[in-house]
Amino acid sequence: MRDQFLRQRCNVTVHIEILGSAAGGGFPQWNCNCRNCQSLRAGTFQGKPRTQTQVGVACDNQSYFLLNASPDLRLQIEATPHLHPRSGQRDSPISGVVLTSADIDQVAGLLSLRELQPFRIYSTPSLRQILQEDNSMFGMLNRVPKQVSWQEVTPGHSFPLLDVAGTDSGIRCEAFSLGSHDPAYVSKQRSASLKPEELLLGLFLESSSGKRLAYMPAVPVIDGPLLQRLECADLLLFDGTFWSDDELIQVQGSGATASEMGHVPVSGAEGSLLKLAGLHRPRKVFIHINNTNPMLDESSSQYREVRDAGWEIAADGWSLDL
Ligand SMILES: [Zn+2]
Repeated sequence: MRDQFLRQRCNVTVHIEILGSAAGGGFPQWNCNCRNCQSLRAGTFQGKPRTQTQVGVACDNQSYFLLNASPDLRLQIEATPHLHPRSGQRDSPISGVVLTSADIDQVAGLLSLRELQPFRIYSTPSLRQILQEDNSMFGMLNRVPKQVSWQEVTPGHSFPLLDVAGTDSGIRCEAFSLGSHDPAYVSKQRSASLKPEELLLGLFLESSSGKRLAYMPAVPVIDGPLLQRLECADLLLFDGTFWSDDELIQVQGSGATASEMGHVPVSGAEGSLLKLAGLHRPRKVFIHINNTNPMLDESSSQYREVRDAGWEIAADGWSLDL
């Protein structure tokens, strides 16, 4: 009976909107003079500017769920007519936000949703504690009763995405723990009290017809259990932050490696191109691409290498159906 109801409500296809595709800082980044950013500003770059990574999913065009909330969210909503208010003085088709980490480029957009609009935030207890208990600004999301409803997520357990009234959207979601990386702003004291498996997640979203999206904008390492799960996906949106492990050090002369920042690079022996080469089922798309990554340049050998390996590189404004 419930399945029949879902089929009636949901037209089976899940629509995926890529509202933003860059890593934190966007492309170009305000203070960056790297080769990519410089040539984009000069108008000589063969490739596209990008806002910070943001994905929205919907089953029926009535209820949209955001995967994280980027600092560019207000502009991304305005650029996407499906996400505009539809009736009455205050309205939004955005029913909820699912969080995969507490990184600033994944949560700062929640503050752009503070205008007393009810919606749900799906989050592990550890991510909620970081935001609600250590960062008082997020209290603006709970100024009045029935504003934002925090929904507890447990890695490994799937749950339905519900609209504000509690109606099942027809999309099921499961969070998959990808490691214990937490943002630099989290204090040592807080960090010690959190559950490591709740800090960095990948998401599997499944339509009522059984099609699966794997959403992984930050992946520290590709291991056997992850590979096994990815085999079951039809569409993969995967961490394309850095081309090489020492990319930022090469550009800035100092700094952290990709792996120290919780990202497996695209190239190299431990990189995603090689590690995921045997994955044939999913359509493979890189997202969360840092402005320094040479594969953003469509005239580069790195771009060619990625495309020849069967991968696509997400750009803002893409709509994909699952
Ligand atoms: Zn740059």
